[in-house]
Amino acid sequence: MHTQHTIKTQVSCSGIGLHTGNPVNMTFHPASPQSGIVFKRIDIDGYPTIKVSPEHIGDLSYATTIQQGDISIKTIEHVLSAVSALGITNLLIELDSNEPPILDGSAACFVDMLLDAGLTSQRGQTRVMQVRQSLEVRHKDSIMSVEPFDGLKITYTIDFPNPLIGTQTKTMRVTPLAYMSDLAHARTFCMYEEIEYLWKMGLSKGGSLDNAVVFGRDRVMNDAPLRYADEPVRHKMLDLIGDLTFLGHPICGHIKVYKGGHLLHTKFVKELLAHPETWRYVVERDIDEHLTITPRNASNEAGLLVQPAFAS
Ligand SMILES: [Zn+2]
Repeated sequence: MHTQHTIKTQVSCSGIGLHTGNPVNMTFHPASPQSGIVFKRIDIDGYPTIKVSPEHIGDLSYATTIQQGDISIKTIEHVLSAVSALGITNLLIELDSNEPPILDGSAACFVDMLLDAGLTSQRGQTRVMQVRQSLEVRHKDSIMSVEPFDGLKITYTIDFPNPLIGTQTKTMRVTPLAYMSDLAHARTFCMYEEIEYLWKMGLSKGGSLDNAVVFGRDRVMNDAPLRYADEPVRHKMLDLIGDLTFLGHPICGHIKVYKGGHLLHTKFVKELLAHPETWRYVVERDIDEHLTITPRNASNEAGLLVQPAFAS
């Protein structure tokens, strides 16, 4: 039986939004089969909901916004990244503000919350988008492509003028276990000289050294060391996995990104969906293995009995 997955019980956290600085309470609720990933604003009359699907991609400057009509929620990519990486297909994400909490700037807290809640299988098949032909999209000097691969593999390259970042490339096969150890803890980052501009733009009001890595010209401004030597490229991969949630299905292929961002990621999502001749749906095998992820205390590598989400 090929199944979908949700969480066993609701789980909550509180914090402030990275860009708005607004205080927010967020609760993950179990959701019924076929419902998908849905956001709900309980601070607005009627408690409007927005489903994660490509027609609801909103503003993409410095964060990914989900939008339907006048209702929007900013900076959803880290939450979606954790949800997707764990193979959760149905989830209700309730917020009492317009941006999830940034917490430590990574996706690790969301992973912990979801594993604390526990994952459970549901009736209903999960279909995977299996890439059969290569496809490429470009935006200015940024390039994103995909080619057939048995599983999800990402090669990401960033190139920043800041000498402490420079050019970083990382390739990895994305599985829940690899995600949790190699990507989930990578924090969002910015350049010190960008901060004044971001504030002028009304962005990053909740940003601080507690939730972002700030790169000066010659030193990292945070007291604590980087979590990975190449933390920025890993964070971009984390962001990408979040943005790919807009496909509505897990994807099987080797995705390569050069100097990407939310605009390029979501352009790729729309382009791939507009070219169904380049992929086909297959029923996911082995998804029942997700059940062995729980509980969170088993999240040391030795104790975590989890198979690749998209492996054959
Ligand atoms: Zn990010």
